[in-house]
Amino acid sequence: MPEKTIFSRIIDREIPADIVYEDDLCLAIRDISPQAPVHVLVFPKKVVVSTSDITEEDAPLIGHIYLVIQKLADQLGISEEGYRVVSNCRTNAGQTVPHLHFHILGGRSFNWPPG
Ligand code: AMP
Repeated sequence: MPEKTIFSRIIDREIPADIVYEDDLCLAIRDISPQAPVHVLVFPKKVVVSTSDITEEDAPLIGHIYLVIQKLADQLGISEEGYRVVSNCRTNAGQTVPHLHFHILGGRSFNWPPG
């Protein structure tokens, strides 16, 4: 049995987090080290390691998460001015938690291309 990810431990309430949204399929929390005035992480309750590990079976789950992202962006007040959604995949992107997650970043302008 692989070790539980930090996000699975948050889902199971083994460690605390600032939870901003939860439903049967996913959870959203404030990032512990925010990189923007609004920095929320959305992740599935099902452990999928990264975007490269998403399967056909996960397609409805990923669609659902994007609708949650849209809803949260409205609730967090960042929809009108815009925001960034990022999912770092594996080593070159700097993924540090091996549990698929989407960063919602807002409240400031972002550069393109990213660093
Ligand atoms: P990534 O580097 O894309 O894998 O993103 C992982 C993110 O999880 C980072 O932005 C971390 O700051 C964040 N993070 C790690 N541990 C926690 C935690 N216990 N609560 C909230 N955010 C966390």
